[in-house]
Amino acid sequence: MPTSLERYAWLSVAAALATISLKTLAWWLTGSLGLLSDAMESFVNLAAALLALSMLRLAATPADKDYPHGRSKAEYFAAGVEGALIVLAAAGIVWAALPRLFDPRSLAMPLVGIALTGVATAINLAVGAVLLRVGQARHSITLEADGRHLLTDVWTSFGVIAGVALVAYTGWLQLDPLVALLVAAHILWIGFGLVRRSISGLLDPAIAHGEQSEIAQLLGGATLHAPEQGSPRSLADPRPIAFLILSGPGAGARGLTERSWDAWTRPMMVVTGSRDLVEGERTPMWHLEPFFRSPAGDKYALFLEGASHRSFTGRQAELTDTAEEREIFRWVRAETLAFWDLYLKSATAARPWLEPERVAESSGGRAKLQKR
Ligand SMILES: [Zn+2]
Repeated sequence: MPTSLERYAWLSVAAALATISLKTLAWWLTGSLGLLSDAMESFVNLAAALLALSMLRLAATPADKDYPHGRSKAEYFAAGVEGALIVLAAAGIVWAALPRLFDPRSLAMPLVGIALTGVATAINLAVGAVLLRVGQARHSITLEADGRHLLTDVWTSFGVIAGVALVAYTGWLQLDPLVALLVAAHILWIGFGLVRRSISGLLDPAIAHGEQSEIAQLLGGATLHAPEQGSPRSLADPRPIAFLILSGPGAGARGLTERSWDAWTRPMMVVTGSRDLVEGERTPMWHLEPFFRSPAGDKYALFLEGASHRSFTGRQAELTDTAEEREIFRWVRAETLAFWDLYLKSATAARPWLEPERVAESSGGRAKLQKR
């Protein structure tokens, strides 16, 4: 007995089969490569619909002894396979369309082709709208993504129909393979997106350091004040000994207020720089708020001249390979290491590295350490 969400995935499969038939017939009657490419695109939809169906099934299968983390990662394999199919479809279109650029042919029965594709497009529009609505209402990203995909296909089909109409009206025969190539490019774009998603899903990339800093603050005891909730909320974890906050948020972001750090007692080091302006309107000083607003004692703020949001991970040094960025990252490493050594290992030899005057002197004023 399929779950009700699976029923919608079956609707998507049926829509794909119907549009494949209609668009293939349209291509066969007219000989239009634009319509052929649109039909190929519908095979992509079939693959996507089958993928959605299997995902909803897997999601409904609970974790067990053999798969203690559940089976949701299968989605990424499937998305990778689907991406590969899409690239094949696009290659097929290019292979058919390129010779036609130099050997153009006129189209037969363009009006019939347009009418058939019009019906297929109406099906995609209706099913896409239903999937999007149900996906959003039932919090199923699988159905929602499938619905969005079908709605973008509506636009692709409009483009193809316009192309066929123009070819019939103007007699500019090369336009037909050109439209097909455009559709192939669009299909490739979708395919690359899927492959990228599957790779990043399988590799579990790190979350950005801005978010890591936010999490560190919440675990450290920064309280959240939502207007609709009476008392501030704390997610503090008593286990960590010290906290490093690389370009973290200050007051005004996601429930943090000026009072969020009132009760923060554990050691903290915040790091920012003169070009750390990733939050738009805010100044780099905003990233120093956890330091200034928490009670004094074992608090450090490292401010690096010329450092941007990406400097603190060493990424900017890798990308630009400039002496300035390497120097900035050297100070990030030296100061954060000294901080960990002192508070995690009680290594007092690290103390001189946490003296503001010494840091200012040996960096020639490029690195500014403050201490409270
Ligand atoms: Zn599609």
